[in-house]
Amino acid sequence: MQTHNPIHKKLWEAIVSNNHSYDGKFFYGVQTTKVFCRPSCPSRIPKLENVRIFYHRQEAINEGFRPCKRCRPDQLQLPIQEWIDQIKRFLEKNWSNTISLDLLANVFHLSPYHLQRTFKKCVGVTPAQYLEQIKVDQAMHYLQETDQTMKEIAQAVGISNAQYFTTIFKKKTGVTPSMYRKSKGGNRVGSAYTTNDLLDNISQ
Ligand SMILES: [Zn+2]
Repeated sequence: MQTHNPIHKKLWEAIVSNNHSYDGKFFYGVQTTKVFCRPSCPSRIPKLENVRIFYHRQEAINEGFRPCKRCRPDQLQLPIQEWIDQIKRFLEKNWSNTISLDLLANVFHLSPYHLQRTFKKCVGVTPAQYLEQIKVDQAMHYLQETDQTMKEIAQAVGISNAQYFTTIFKKKTGVTPSMYRKSKGGNRVGSAYTTNDLLDNISQ
């Protein structure tokens, strides 16, 4: 039956680039899997010759296609919350790295602007602020439970600049890392450095 597939170039491009702005305007089904998706679906790009275009979800269902579990084309609302949850999980898993907005946008097939805006709207903070909070939480744990130096802890949470680490920590908690450690009774063993000394060195 293979006639050439007359899919409009624009629609195909939307599928290939996971373009959100086409969501709701059309759906695509994959003949080989009998699953249909939104254009923005992050699942693997199908072969062009296996793609069918539908302008209404019901058309796809009538033809025996099942809604994709990932992009949920059967739901009327965009699964924004699912996206946000995925992004949060990604940050929670990768907190020890430096994650730029561009990287996130790449991973989640969204424009940096759209990602930042949507995330902030749903979560109340930007992805960068969310990530910082995770790093600070982890740092609090290290400060309390280990005798690692500020530099080591900063590196462990993926902040290579110890001074910047102190700045972020203070911004989030209201105290410097060394004050926090002291208040928690951490770093009690008599090590060769004191955290205050270290901080003073850093801020000079
Ligand atoms: Zn899908």
